[in-house]
Amino acid sequence: MLTYLDNAATTFPKPECVYTAMDAYYRAYGGNPGRGSHRLAVESDRVIAQCRQRLARLWNVADPARLVFGLNCTQATNQALKGLLQPGDHLVSTMMEHNAVARPLRRLEAEGIAVTRVAASPEGLVDPADIEAALRPETRMVAVNHGSNVCGTLQPLSEIGRVCRARGVRFMVDAAQTAGVFPLDVQAQNIDLLCCSGHKGLLGPTGVGALYVAPDLALKSLIEGGTGSESESDVQPHDMPACLESGTPNTVGLAGLGASLAYLLERGLDGIREHEAALTRLLLTGLRELPGVTLYGPPPETPRAPVVSFNLEGWDPNDIATVLDQQFEIACRPGLHCAPLAHQTLGTFPQGTVRLSPGFSTTEAECARAVEAVRQIAAAS
Ligand code: PMP
Repeated sequence: MLTYLDNAATTFPKPECVYTAMDAYYRAYGGNPGRGSHRLAVESDRVIAQCRQRLARLWNVADPARLVFGLNCTQATNQALKGLLQPGDHLVSTMMEHNAVARPLRRLEAEGIAVTRVAASPEGLVDPADIEAALRPETRMVAVNHGSNVCGTLQPLSEIGRVCRARGVRFMVDAAQTAGVFPLDVQAQNIDLLCCSGHKGLLGPTGVGALYVAPDLALKSLIEGGTGSESESDVQPHDMPACLESGTPNTVGLAGLGASLAYLLERGLDGIREHEAALTRLLLTGLRELPGVTLYGPPPETPRAPVVSFNLEGWDPNDIATVLDQQFEIACRPGLHCAPLAHQTLGTFPQGTVRLSPGFSTTEAECARAVEAVRQIAAAS
């Protein structure tokens, strides 16, 4: 039986209600939302509105229209960064970012936007005082990854949000690894732009992501086209979310995300987070005892996103992942996890690490199996 420990890449399996909702949607409705007044189109529209309302509840968004749906977290980060920043602006980011932020920033730098990348501690923690010290009069935005997809380190969002608010700087958060597991509150945490995927901790399908845009912020659209509204005009509408949502959406995906959000809202995040934290500690304390193993990120007692990274002396991370898959039927992810800057911080560039990431349906027995498998690999080497 497969042990799936790659939930940081995408959660699997999904709650049963997600499969049911997607199947039911495509069999019963399937109209193009907002593009017609017949019942199938109207019902599709309702599915999307319901999904938006549920996400608004999860993140304490006052007006669901400030939530934009797209393909994934990468589309959200690109829309947020390129939709706001202009040549001459300065942005502060960190050395823990995923390429979903790091690469658009490289492109923006080439177009005349200045970027400061604040260093993190060897465990991946950024000090809000360093962010504050990096601010300049022309700083427009601070962009921070909430939970590291490499080692789980959590950044102090509320403190950084307070700094941004006090200095009149926009605050963008990449919550790809934390949404659906850790509570996020755009109002209490002063978040202006919140980006995430639907397919990770939110437990929805691939092909959907979300971006929250603060009420006093207007982003330039990156894509223009049909919105089902103001069709008499050949100019992109200004109203949210239509101005940033051109073309037919992934309605079946949003039906699945709506179902997983209902599941999360009903079950609450606390139980899921505590379950995943217990599994993460089990992995960390088990691996820590093994000869030749190096662990990365905060110590086992410190709260972190449910992500564990390690290396085994004398082994390439890719080879460990191959052995785990082929001999032990354990799915994990080796390498750089699309986050070369974070690996530079941890001292694991360029070889990377082996990453084990438990999810909401992972069991203690599965984590114990993984530790035992690494023990056997270590013993055989
Ligand atoms: N940011 C972080 C921290 C991530 O872990 C990921 C996914 N690995 C992304 C952004 C990008 O997410 P997606 O592939 O869904 O666009």
